[in-house]
Amino acid sequence: MRLDFFPEDVKPHIIPKVEGDLYYKCLGCSAQYSIEKLLYVCPSCNQVLLIHDRNASSLKKISGIVWQKIFDFRKLLKIPALKGIYRYHEFIGSCIPLESIVYLGEGHTPVVEANERLKGQVGLRFFYKNDGQNPSASFKDRGMASAISSIKYLIDQNLVSDVIAVCASTGDTSAAAALYASYLSPLIKSAVLLPHKKVTSQQLSQPLGSGAHVFEIPGVFDDCMKIVEHLSTQYSVVLLNSKNAWRILGQESYSYEIAQDFEWDMKNKVVVVPIGNAGNISAVMNGFIKFYEADIIDSLPKIIGVQSEHADPVFKYYLEPDEAKRKFIPMDTKPSVAQAAMIGNPVSMPRVVKIAEKYNSLAGHPQVFFVQVTEQSIMDWQLIANKNGHIACTQGGECLAGLVKALEINIVHKGETAILDATAHAIKFSEFQDLYFKSKLPKAYEIEPDPANINLPSFIQPDNPNLTPSQEKRLGEKDFQLFVKDISEKIAKRLNLKASL
Ligand SMILES: *Cc1c(COP(=O)(O)O)cnc(C)c1O
Ligand SMILES: [Zn+2]
Repeated sequence: MRLDFFPEDVKPHIIPKVEGDLYYKCLGCSAQYSIEKLLYVCPSCNQVLLIHDRNASSLKKISGIVWQKIFDFRKLLKIPALKGIYRYHEFIGSCIPLESIVYLGEGHTPVVEANERLKGQVGLRFFYKNDGQNPSASFKDRGMASAISSIKYLIDQNLVSDVIAVCASTGDTSAAAALYASYLSPLIKSAVLLPHKKVTSQQLSQPLGSGAHVFEIPGVFDDCMKIVEHLSTQYSVVLLNSKNAWRILGQESYSYEIAQDFEWDMKNKVVVVPIGNAGNISAVMNGFIKFYEADIIDSLPKIIGVQSEHADPVFKYYLEPDEAKRKFIPMDTKPSVAQAAMIGNPVSMPRVVKIAEKYNSLAGHPQVFFVQVTEQSIMDWQLIANKNGHIACTQGGECLAGLVKALEINIVHKGETAILDATAHAIKFSEFQDLYFKSKLPKAYEIEPDPANINLPSFIQPDNPNLTPSQEKRLGEKDFQLFVKDISEKIAKRLNLKASL
């Protein structure tokens, strides 16, 4: 929509002003650092950082209702920089001029309500928000759009050049990093480190297709992460893992969108996210906190973080009810079909602890919960969801398994409405579905395929091998008619079809 069409109260705010005064703040010692430096941990205490805005209080000059209007009207703009996560520019990266923003179609992913059958089976009303419908088919594009735009901003100001961006990945970070970096080639080159044989072939093909340097490393994700951390302290590289605070900032958009998707009403809502490196749950909580503090929403939704029992260090940490006695213990993971979340030593653990504490205290009661699910339930619920019109990945299945568990143990109640993060597209993880259907999942996954969930193709061939067409040898007209009739009859029999009159 053209600018002069907008209502008068919204018009002055529709194009964001670049007013933010952002800085890094250390979660350990609270030291502050300029965002003009590439920084991932505190130089003095080595803790992770979060980005804050010195002008955040000025956001309060606009009422919550007007913010809602601004964001609703911004939907009508045709400016690419404001079509993605930067619709919420003032809350996401308010120092970044629109010219530096990289937009590849991320964000504003569909929210799809479960049908009656599935709701009946689960026991309450819920939606999937399909972050698999982002450009590289996972939510990581939200954080990557933010991280890469921040680098473009530094490049445009001549503060950095010849950027080599690196990341370790369980598959999706590398796909997103390689995609966004390739858009800015040759200004940015990317290198990704993947645990050998611990990402799906689709995920491996993505950074290769984007032209990144792809390194496969023996071990698991946590091992790759250590190498990338070493590289980022010893060499001049840009780190694109969620240790990078810009990633968290961009991923906060997921919460802003949920607020907008549900007309700013977060009462009786439950948001369910899988936890791996714990960057996403940190971002999701932080996003709701920011909108709550700006009066854009008037309640904080319940947050449920889900972990597989094969990779559950965050869940275990919170098992101890006494805050003072909690102690984080990194663990060795076991094979998980929720492979993108198979992390034993999450980098963002200090963020989770700090932000969850603030979230609960703002809510005035416990509002952040952690549940643990079995591998079996992850796989079964993913398959059941997708038989009902969804496109959930295994981590999306983990969310649904987590919701069922949360209902069971009375953390969630029937009157509430849940929004589940389908963090990636089902086709990225189709290998696990395939292994399940063929009953070939290795024992270590501890999954017994349920025959009711198995689906396999049937090969239908004619009784007479001479009536088999091939690309090289076509059948004569009469034989071909016989072939069509034979095969049709066999399919009709399988499907129990009745003859038409
Ligand atoms: C990265 C990822 C996760 C885990 O998110 P964290 O921020 O690491 O906790 C879950 N699902 C998918 C599909 C992912 O790519
Ligand atoms: Zn510090």
